[in-house]
Amino acid sequence: MAKNILVDGKMRKVIKEVKESCDRCHKEVIGLITDYGNKGYYRRNAMWGEFMSPDENVLCDECMHNDPRYKQQFPFANRRLW
Ligand SMILES: [Zn+2]
Repeated sequence: MAKNILVDGKMRKVIKEVKESCDRCHKEVIGLITDYGNKGYYRRNAMWGEFMSPDENVLCDECMHNDPRYKQQFPFANRRLW
């Protein structure tokens, strides 16, 4: 799959499409892995792990954006920052 998508004004290369399951609402999410990062879901890492419970590794955009810790950290942007 050779596809590019526009993310915040820059063309990013889509590496692959993935199906993930949100660990909080258990909804299935179709996400994209790009050369710049994941789109459509959040996977635990040093940054996003702060907004997840210990047993959560994947959150959909909606659950992340509704998380009180996320809202506190990003009060002006109810969306991912890239
Ligand atoms: Zn969710």
